[in-house]
Formats: sequence, C-alpha cells, structure tokens
Amino acid sequence: MANIKLLGRIFIEGDIKAVTGLHIGGAPAGLNIGGLDNPVIRDPKTRQPFIPGSSLKGKMRSLSERARGFDPDDRQQTQSIGRDVRIHVCREPAAYAECNVCQVFGIPGELDHATPTRLTVRDVFLDPESLEGAHTDFLSTEVKWEASIDRITSAAVPRQIERVPAGAVFPDFEIILSAYDLGGGGQGEFDHIETVLTAMQLLEDDSLGGLGSRGSGKIQFIEMRVAARRGAERIEYGGDEGKKLSDLIGARDEIVAWVRDTLTPR
Ligand SMILES: [Zn+2]
Repeated sequence: MANIKLLGRIFIEGDIKAVTGLHIGGAPAGLNIGGLDNPVIRDPKTRQPFIPGSSLKGKMRSLSERARGFDPDDRQQTQSIGRDVRIHVCREPAAYAECNVCQVFGIPGELDHATPTRLTVRDVFLDPESLEGAHTDFLSTEVKWEASIDRITSAAVPRQIERVPAGAVFPDFEIILSAYDLGGGGQGEFDHIETVLTAMQLLEDDSLGGLGSRGSGKIQFIEMRVAARRGAERIEYGGDEGKKLSDLIGARDEIVAWVRDTLTPR
C-alpha cells in the first residue's frame, strides 16, 4: 500500500440509554444450580453488564449493509466470520473504492486493496446508579420469562431471559472514525461521518442484542458530542451542550465541512 497518512480522528461520543430491556448474551452458566439459561454478558472485573463495542459495531454494519441492499447470498460479496455470521465484503478494488460500508467498517486485511479500517467502537459500561429504584432480580438485571412454542408439538416451553432493565444508562460511549490521506489529500474521507451517523440512526430504529422482535433492545443515543483530534490537540464541535442524534444528522453537512476544515493540513 502506498503512502497512508493519518489526518486525524473524529470522536462521536455520548451516552446510550436502554429504552426497553436489553439482552446482549454472554456465556450460559451451564449446569450451575440457579444458573440462568440466557445470561447477559458481564464485565469480568465488576460483574456489571456492558455493551461490547463489537456488538454495537456489528449491528451498525449489518443494518448499513441491509440499507444498501447487499445480497447476503451473493458469494462474490460475502465472507463468513465465525460460525453463523456472514458479512458483506467488496472483493474487487473498483467496488471497494465506491463502498462506504467496507471502507468504514473494514474488510479482511489480506485483500490487497484493503485500506485501514476507519471505525473503532469501544465497549460501553453500565452506570449502576441509573437503575436506582428499578426492580432487579440479579446484579443490575431482571429476569423475564418467555414461552417459546415448540413448532412440532405446540408445547409451550418456558425459558428465562436475563435483561438489563429499561432506563439503564451506559455513559460515555466512544465511536472513533480515523481519517486518512491515501494519496488524494483525504478526498471523500470526511463523508464517512455521514455513514456512521446514518448507521446509528438505523440502530436506534432497530434493536441491539437479542429478542428485538419481541421488543427488547431499543436504545437511544443521548447527550452526544462531536470532537476532532489533529495531532495532540482535541477540538470540540458546537460547544459543550449534549446533542441528540437527530440534531447531528440534521447538521451533518455542517459537521463534515467543520471536520474537513479542522483536519485538512494547510
Ligand atoms: Zn463493500
């Protein structure tokens, strides 16, 4: 790969609020007595639930792929990662050059036309105080009983689902977009901001984690901020006041112009 120069990074930050109960699955407790069938993933240090950055990024990617109408059965444009997950991947350089999804969310590094993945999404940790007064069965979670119906016998099989209750707040999420000059002076690089904001909107309108079709996993991005870092200097966009995602999407052209101005070398 020819000269790649980092122009700077764009930070999209804020808090995530669980509007409905949130189930992001962890490893089952197995045969432990009192173990749950469907536990949530927890931070091994604090035992509190958290949202893995990979879950956020993965869902934003799959919704972006779907919104662009990629065909999951097109084997030229899909790649299996892990057991049951297939992602869209542009294998042809010409298609890749036109594809915001692959440029932002990344493609396997062994493909010759791969440029650095632009997007980093960090893990987000629960603020247990946001659940003060909420009903919980375990540490920061509730247990919901669901009847799944056996398709053959029609018998109702009860199962337990552990969820972080509605109203929980996961503060200080960090979505970091790197901007590179790949030889063209950073041409088109700042338009990736719109791809990311759109993916966040798709996620708000869909769900995160399991049981989305049954109402779990509705989240909202709140108290949002945008900043850019050029070298050691961090510059905030539009003052300290927290913004809504819809405000940022409404101002996206202004934000793209501001970031371009801030990060383009003079
Ligand atoms: Zn692509």
